[in-house]
Amino acid sequence: MPIATVNPANGETLRTFDALDEQEIDRRISAAHRAFRVHRTTGFAERARLLNRAADLLDEDREDIARTMTLEMGKPLGAARAEAAKCAKAMRWYAAHAEHLLADEYPDEADVKDSGAARACVRYRPLGPVLAVMPWNFPLWQVMRFAAPALMAGNTGLLKHASNVPQTALYLEDLFSRAGYPEGCFQTLLIGSGAVEAVLRDPRVVAATLTGSEPAGRSVASVAGDEIKKTVLELGGSDPFLVLPSADVAGAARTAVTARTQNNGQSCIAAKRFIVHTDVYDEFAERFTAGMRALTVGDPMEDSTEVGPLSSERGRADLEELVDDAVRRGATVLCGGGRPEHLDGGLERGWFYTPTVLTGITPAMRIHREETFGPVATLYRVTGLDEAVELANDTSFGLSSNVWTRDEEEMDRCVRDLEAGGVFFNGMTASHPALPFGGVKRSGYGRELADHGIREFCNTTTVWYG
Ligand code: NDP
Repeated sequence: MPIATVNPANGETLRTFDALDEQEIDRRISAAHRAFRVHRTTGFAERARLLNRAADLLDEDREDIARTMTLEMGKPLGAARAEAAKCAKAMRWYAAHAEHLLADEYPDEADVKDSGAARACVRYRPLGPVLAVMPWNFPLWQVMRFAAPALMAGNTGLLKHASNVPQTALYLEDLFSRAGYPEGCFQTLLIGSGAVEAVLRDPRVVAATLTGSEPAGRSVASVAGDEIKKTVLELGGSDPFLVLPSADVAGAARTAVTARTQNNGQSCIAAKRFIVHTDVYDEFAERFTAGMRALTVGDPMEDSTEVGPLSSERGRADLEELVDDAVRRGATVLCGGGRPEHLDGGLERGWFYTPTVLTGITPAMRIHREETFGPVATLYRVTGLDEAVELANDTSFGLSSNVWTRDEEEMDRCVRDLEAGGVFFNGMTASHPALPFGGVKRSGYGRELADHGIREFCNTTTVWYG
């Protein structure tokens, strides 16, 4: 895949970049290694000062970087601005909380005595340069939720960003540099995916985090496993959205539209499978389909646009294959089901897809098992909670889940039984710096954000005094 900015709204190639050669990669890994030796010794106050400074700069740059993101991957401009703001918030959150999250821990005195120690504690020490392999869908946020805690913990970062967001990737390096981070603390490696293995095998790189597809995760985790290096994986999702009889159906349908189409439908935590109790099915289906049909599809730079193009021609082709396979095998199209026809002014060459609702899904259809990375929803009718939970878990993914009910017993049952890294009631899944984020099954392992995230790339050190 070439490293290039290609506008997904019209298919135009705007800039291409050469990949770094081996020597330059080596030079940058050395810089990360050298920077770590110093950065690890700095105090939390200094690390917080730098991260807060970077957050201030990001706030100042918000409009420009939002436009760059929209240009490179097609998310609506308003969503790009919100993403930049969310990053600044997470940076300030970690700047404020890291010292507390990583404070020494003291076991019970009786246990310390029992271990034969006069005193003992647990200290969270940084690990070293961490490689971050990141995707294009939230090109600032996915990186920042790694970078902010990693830098606060005293690690250094090497970013291999997706090849279609090189300008956003370079912006991130520049941001940390302007904030005053010493050279090597955070660097962007403009490299293709084929060059990742060598970076990961380099002894100076100690761990990796990857957000992206299952094949990419498998590949990076295999190499890291071979090298005995820690990884955190945040892969795909096919989150269920359950609507049960006591739900606020109008609210559920409104939220369902946003949950499915945010970021042009290209979010790992988007609700993708809508599992609705038969008592409220007809009302939900009508409201949800009307909401999906009413969305404005168009130029992502326009403030009125709610759904922009998919990020790549390949991404749209994958989505079309899934929908076509389902329709061929008998699925019913309640709305959408193809490319929009009203676009002009160059947008007709963009990679748009109309918001779509499909029903009559059977296990024989690929869409029943595979992730739909675009504005396509599948709608299922169930007759009870048991059937809803069984269907919700009938997937290889386990990222998050959404349940609409006012019944406390149903809530307890869902928290007990849904196989996912999150259960969100009467709302939609969203990440927040204070709440851990990640999945089970093929959605990956490890957690980002909160205390769980910052400790992933720490050496949990037992300190024992005889
Ligand atoms: P990829 O997983 O291919 O890309 C994500 C990142 O991984 C990119 O930086 C990519 O680099 C890199 N990468 C890809 N293959 C390898 C490899 N073998 N070794 C090391 N690094 C690798 O995502 P795509 O853009 O191809 O999207 C495909 C599907 O992945 C989507 O349809 C969706 O299902 C899922 N996805 C999930 C995301 C999430 O948020 N969980 C985000 C993006 C995609 P390069 O760009 O150079 O190939």
